[in-house]
Amino acid sequence: MSELHKFMFEGLPVRGLLVRLTDSWQDILRRRADNRETGPYPEPVRRLLGEMTAAAVLMQANIKFDGALVLQLHGEGPLKLAVVEVQSDLRLRSTAKTVGEILPNMRLEDMANQHNLGRCAITLDPAGRRPAQQPYQGVVSLYDDHKQPLKKFSDVLAHYMLQSEQLDTTLVLAANDQVAAGLLIQRLPMGGIANLSGTKTLAEEDAIGRNEDYNRIAILANSLTAGELLQLAPDKVLHRLFWQEQLKHFAPEPGLDSPRFVCSCNRERVSAMIRSLGRDEADSILAERELIEVGCDFCGQQYRYDAIDAAQLFVPGQPPVPPASSALQ
Ligand SMILES: [Zn+2]
Repeated sequence: MSELHKFMFEGLPVRGLLVRLTDSWQDILRRRADNRETGPYPEPVRRLLGEMTAAAVLMQANIKFDGALVLQLHGEGPLKLAVVEVQSDLRLRSTAKTVGEILPNMRLEDMANQHNLGRCAITLDPAGRRPAQQPYQGVVSLYDDHKQPLKKFSDVLAHYMLQSEQLDTTLVLAANDQVAAGLLIQRLPMGGIANLSGTKTLAEEDAIGRNEDYNRIAILANSLTAGELLQLAPDKVLHRLFWQEQLKHFAPEPGLDSPRFVCSCNRERVSAMIRSLGRDEADSILAERELIEVGCDFCGQQYRYDAIDAAQLFVPGQPPVPPASSALQ
C-alpha cells in the first residue's frame, strides 16, 4: 500500500512528511508499458517522474490545498513535458511526453534543460473554481543562483519553496520501478502561517538558513541515501535518521485517504474536446481514418467515435461543455 507519514519534532519549529508510493506508482508504470502506442518510459524518465510524483504528494500534503496541485516540468530537450496532479484527498495521476531519444545515462539537464530554458510550474487549482477565476501558478527555472543547471529535481523544488514561501525546505526523493518515495523537512514559520498570504515579516526572512535545530535535522535528512529511502519501511527510515531527536510520528490511520492512482478522464470531457475542435475538423479526421480516437495520456484509456457518434456530438441542444479540471483535460 502507498503510505503518507507525518511527523513533528517536539518543541522545535520543524516538521516533516514521508511518502512511499508502491501500488499506485507501479500502476502508473504498468499502464504506460501496456500502451502499445508509446511503450514504457525510458529509465531516466521513470526515475524523474517517480520523484516528481512523490514530491507532488508531499507538497499537497504539506499545504493541504483544497483542489488540485499540479506539478509540471516543461522540458527543453527530449523530455518535453512531465505532469503530476494530486487532489486534496491524495488521488493522483502522472504522465510524461518525450520526443526523440532518451539515453540511459541522461541527467535532468540532458533531458530537460540543455540551454537553461527548461522550467517547472506549480499550479494550485481550487476546487469549484469559477470559469473566470485564474488558478495560482508559480514558475521556477532549472538552474541555481549562479546559472548552473540543477542536478536533482529535489533541488528545483527546494529552490521554489524558498522563493515562494520563504521557508527552508529539505527534500530527498528517489524512485525505481517498484517504489517512488520522498522525505520533506520544513522549518515552520515563527509567527504562524502568514506566509502563504504573502505577508512576511523581516524577522521571518532573516531566519532563513539560521535556525540551528532545522539545520541539524536537515543535515540528518540529507544523509539518507536513495537506496535506504526506497528499501526501508517508513518507521525504519525515521528511526535511522532521527533516533536521537524527540520525534512525534503520526502513522497513517487505516481507512483514511492514502495516496492512490485515480484518473479523472471520462467520455463527456473527451466529447467536449472534440466539439471544441468543430464539425469540419471532426469530419476531416473521419474522412481520413473512419474513427476519431483519443487516448488518455494518464491512464491509457482509448475513446473511440465513429461517424454516427461524432454526428451526435454536433446535434444542437447538447449539454454545455464541462470545465476541465486541469490543463490536461
Ligand atoms: Zn485517463
